[in-house]
Amino acid sequence: MTDLLEHQGKHLFRQAGIAVPRGELVGSPGDAAAAAEQLGGRVVCKAQVPAGKRGKAGAVQLVTSPAEAHDVASRLLGSEVGGHRVESLLVEEAVAIAAEFYAAILNDPVSKGPLVLLSADGGMDIEEVSATRPERLNKLAVDIGAGLEPGDALALTRRSALPAEAVDPVAAALTRLYHVYRDTDASLVEVNPLVLTEAGDVVAIDAKVSIDTAATPRQQQTLDTLPGVLPTEPGTELEREAARLGLQFIELDGDVGVLANGAGLTMTTLDAVNHFGGRPANFLEIGGDAYTKATPALRLVLSNPNVRSLLVNFCGAFARTDVMTEGVLNAIDELRPEIPIAFTIHGTGEREAIALVRERLGVTPHEAMDDAVRAAVSAARERQEVAS
Ligand code: GDP
Ligand code: MN
Repeated sequence: MTDLLEHQGKHLFRQAGIAVPRGELVGSPGDAAAAAEQLGGRVVCKAQVPAGKRGKAGAVQLVTSPAEAHDVASRLLGSEVGGHRVESLLVEEAVAIAAEFYAAILNDPVSKGPLVLLSADGGMDIEEVSATRPERLNKLAVDIGAGLEPGDALALTRRSALPAEAVDPVAAALTRLYHVYRDTDASLVEVNPLVLTEAGDVVAIDAKVSIDTAATPRQQQTLDTLPGVLPTEPGTELEREAARLGLQFIELDGDVGVLANGAGLTMTTLDAVNHFGGRPANFLEIGGDAYTKATPALRLVLSNPNVRSLLVNFCGAFARTDVMTEGVLNAIDELRPEIPIAFTIHGTGEREAIALVRERLGVTPHEAMDDAVRAAVSAARERQEVAS
């Protein structure tokens, strides 16, 4: 999941016609003061980190002069909020708030589609509203084929006990938020609070947009046009690289590189490595249609400098072992790893796969999985002894 920063979410909102306060992204106290000056002095300084509850953490501060903005910025910039270093601040004109609402659109596992949430109790912990006053949180499941019909958005808004003047503009904001959700392949678009200003406008004060990692390739253009720097996703550099390739990869602290297809077979292979006294270097599955990605997958496994031997365990049903094996052999040709490799291959395409390994590497895959695991474990151990 790519969690956009507040100002990046607001950039998308603005493009979709959702009102957001005027503001500027700054990276220094001097720029914060200049932005405050330009926005009329009364501004809110907001730490840009991909975490919620910044208000409670003191990372959202209302100030009334450029000098105060300078002070607050020196305190916030470089500090840690919600486990993230604050690299930038959003300085926004302060809004006079008449009422705060909660609005969100998310992927709902129950209805297996988009769910719109709306509450007249915004600005606070929505989990608390949901737990203590569930009747104050209104929901609307959307048919993803039809989209959010304006009439349905209005009906939801009408039954949410909003101030009368907010009903129409909030309904309009919901349909626009839905477009953001659809157009960016978001798994969550959340506005807490969506406010009614004293002047009678409906404005998004906060923005949380999470984009589905699986959609990153087709959202690349949108992501590239966002201002500022995207928050780094959690994980190691190799794990993020894997995610970009659409592969599930977790670095472990052992030295036996493991490449297997399917999460179940991979877990079994890791267990077997442990059982025979070895330590796996990674979890990496090339399940589903990822079995065609054996070449980049092996590149990832071999990028780990701790890997002393490689265990390749393929079991084909829908996935063809000869396709996977060819991918692996191509990666081996390209990278020429100087480590022992043990293969064990069963199922669809195994005859062709085994022949390929013999032909191109001059080695014969092990008939029994246990033998392949033992071979990889002892090879890693021998090389450890040589190294130490
Ligand atoms: P969060 O705590 O990380 O969710 O950050 P928010 O952006 O939601 O800000 C926290 C709170 O600060 C909001 O719920 C508002 O009550 C308040 N706040 C933010 N911007 C403004 C503003 O422009 N004017 C006023 N009066 N309050 C604001
Ligand atoms: Mn908020």
